[in-house]
Amino acid sequence: MKLTKNAKIAILLPEKPTNREQFAAEELEKYLKKILNVIIDQNDPAVRFVIGGPNRNVIAKELISGENFAQLLTGEEGMLIKIAGNTVLIAGSEGFEDCQRGTVYGVYEFLERYLGCCFAGISTPNGNVGEIVPEQDVCVLEDSQYVKAGSDRPYRCAIVQYGDCAGNPDHGLNIPFLNWLSKNRYNRILTWCRIYDGWKKLGLIPEIEKRGIRLSVGHHDAVKQWLPFYGNEYFPEAYYQTHPEYYRLNADGTRFCPPTPETPWGQWVFCSRNQDCIEQLSQNLIRWISDNPVVDIIALWPMDGKYEQCCCPKCAPYTKIENSAYFLNEVAARVAKVHPLIKMDMLIYTNMWEHPDGLKLSKSLFCDMSTWAYTGLRTCGKPDGSCLINTHFTDTLMKWKNNGSEVAFYDYYMCVYSGRQRLIPMADEIQAIWKYFKEQGILGAGTQLEAFHLWNHLINFYCFGRSGYDNTLSLEDNLDKIAPMFGEGASYISEIVKIMEDIVDGQATIGKTPDYFMSNIDRDLFYNLYEKALACTTDPRCRNNIRMMRMVFRYSDLEFHDPGHNQKFSSLLEYEDHSGELAYMATNFDSFTHNYTGYGVAFPLSNKDTKNFHPDKWYMFE
Ligand SMILES: [Zn+2]
Repeated sequence: MKLTKNAKIAILLPEKPTNREQFAAEELEKYLKKILNVIIDQNDPAVRFVIGGPNRNVIAKELISGENFAQLLTGEEGMLIKIAGNTVLIAGSEGFEDCQRGTVYGVYEFLERYLGCCFAGISTPNGNVGEIVPEQDVCVLEDSQYVKAGSDRPYRCAIVQYGDCAGNPDHGLNIPFLNWLSKNRYNRILTWCRIYDGWKKLGLIPEIEKRGIRLSVGHHDAVKQWLPFYGNEYFPEAYYQTHPEYYRLNADGTRFCPPTPETPWGQWVFCSRNQDCIEQLSQNLIRWISDNPVVDIIALWPMDGKYEQCCCPKCAPYTKIENSAYFLNEVAARVAKVHPLIKMDMLIYTNMWEHPDGLKLSKSLFCDMSTWAYTGLRTCGKPDGSCLINTHFTDTLMKWKNNGSEVAFYDYYMCVYSGRQRLIPMADEIQAIWKYFKEQGILGAGTQLEAFHLWNHLINFYCFGRSGYDNTLSLEDNLDKIAPMFGEGASYISEIVKIMEDIVDGQATIGKTPDYFMSNIDRDLFYNLYEKALACTTDPRCRNNIRMMRMVFRYSDLEFHDPGHNQKFSSLLEYEDHSGELAYMATNFDSFTHNYTGYGVAFPLSNKDTKNFHPDKWYMFE
């Protein structure tokens, strides 16, 4: 088949399309118009695009029987692309609770695999950066078939906030960010209640829903949301006043005091054995879940920090994790009677860690283990995955799993906030870790990942989503897939990434790795390779993408060598910045500080004085 410029095409949906199938068709049309300026003609098309498999769309039966289809797409989120004569069939798995995400993925896979697109970069309205969509005169599509039978791991989660706490969810990059997640195979967002509420007010929930992305809601806000101290828009009762006994008894005989701006946290604040508290929280959750059907996991987490637990006679005989596991288990079982498909996400984190002996866990409980234990953060960067595999993290997680719970990890492919968004090259461990998850029946992982810093950690985030969906993809494969982003310079970018990845090899914890990396590199080597990449690349957008990659390295270098580097953590720091270059980056490119769109890159500094810095070619975006 030849797909030519200005061709008449039809996009044929199922008789009753779901909103995911509708979205897939809209995306296909949008990109085909950009690439080939196609004209929609449903009656007399030269090429037909059929969306949905044979049990969804009768026209698909011309290309494949229901039986063959089911034999090919055996798991959830699978996809089939079949090109035959003048017809292209794009279909996702059928018969699974997967929101037809495979159909959406199938459209993006078709555009990448057959039409030369690349969706690894994030696009902003401010500059000519991000994804590659090549205009063409003609595409020749031989009869062929591409099948991915199903996703290799079902839980590929972005843990989203807008700063070192929840932050302000009204960000100009929200839609590009959701697009990026969907294109790169993230199927879930875990976030704070106040962010979810903010998204509701901004009208973003339908945008999330139509991409088939599921939501886990709660985080460190969970207590305040579902058993509020002073009431909230969902639950007007001020439980701290009406039922102080719901909250933990302190050693001095007082009850836990609700947080203030000075002491915002409190960790596990309940009296875990108070049955009325368990019942009230369960009833509140049951009602809230009914009103928020797009949320299928409740992240019923403690608040942050490390605090003593309830010392009442019923709680005192048990450890803090025994008490909280008992409490969540009870809540999960009660909620499951009304909402059997809802999972209760229990955070295993810092000093709430060890699996309690003898407790049988509810099937509705979901154990979410942070890679931040009582011993601190894990190390990172060994290509065999052994910074996580067969460590006390996986050993402990398997104990939780072996006692009846579904399990996943909460990980940090952006480092943590004290890493200040410096480079952390840890992508070469990702494939091995995902393969291990599959072997062990670990559902997957989430990584902290924000709307405003995709370029800072682009390779990590890309590999996380893509290799999580398809475990056969190595770092090398993923670098090949993103090569169109960098045009002729792609081999240099690939070389840079590989050298960086080789330097980071488990020497430091995640929190210390960005500093370890900057202390152990030949800076000139990298600057020379970026020079070569830019010099040989012709397409302005690819040149700009190379500039984005180099800017993150440049920021990491300048920040690390600035005397301000070792200040106590604060979301924004003032640096000496004698050249003004850091301020130049922050004022012209950053997406972190003011929630304006910027470039999808974060420079968390408050410097505004660019002094006499004259931007060189690395800042001259075309
Ligand atoms: Zn108690």
